[in-house]
Amino acid sequence: MDAGEIVCVKGGYIFTRAALAEVAPVLGPAEIQIADDLFIGPRELDEREGAMIFSNHSCEPNIGVQGQIVFVALRQILPGEELTHDWATTDDDEYTLESRCGAPTCRRILTGKDWKRQDLQRKYRGLFSWYIERLIDAE
Ligand SMILES: [Zn+2]
Repeated sequence: MDAGEIVCVKGGYIFTRAALAEVAPVLGPAEIQIADDLFIGPRELDEREGAMIFSNHSCEPNIGVQGQIVFVALRQILPGEELTHDWATTDDDEYTLESRCGAPTCRRILTGKDWKRQDLQRKYRGLFSWYIERLIDAE
């Protein structure tokens, strides 16, 4: 797979935050946020597998989001290679996690507000989700 090719498209149903809270206890984290109060993800357990993009975090990711649900290769990706995107480009949330991605540039501590970092805004210009892009513009 070459740089720029579409790797996956996130699918599912559209939920408000309140509706998501009803399915989240059963499904766990399976959604992505696409607008202020809108999320996309599976509704039932048997839909979960097909609705996941199975992308872990990396501080040097190999895929990036375009728009809200389309993920493209940022470089050549070999068959079987793990897919990773930088969660700073898709998340506006309240978590703090440790990154063990192994990249030389690893920032060690991830937060759901990393999109606010100017270094990351420069690094990922054009690679934030439409929703995060709007938050950046509003800052
Ligand atoms: Zn990292």
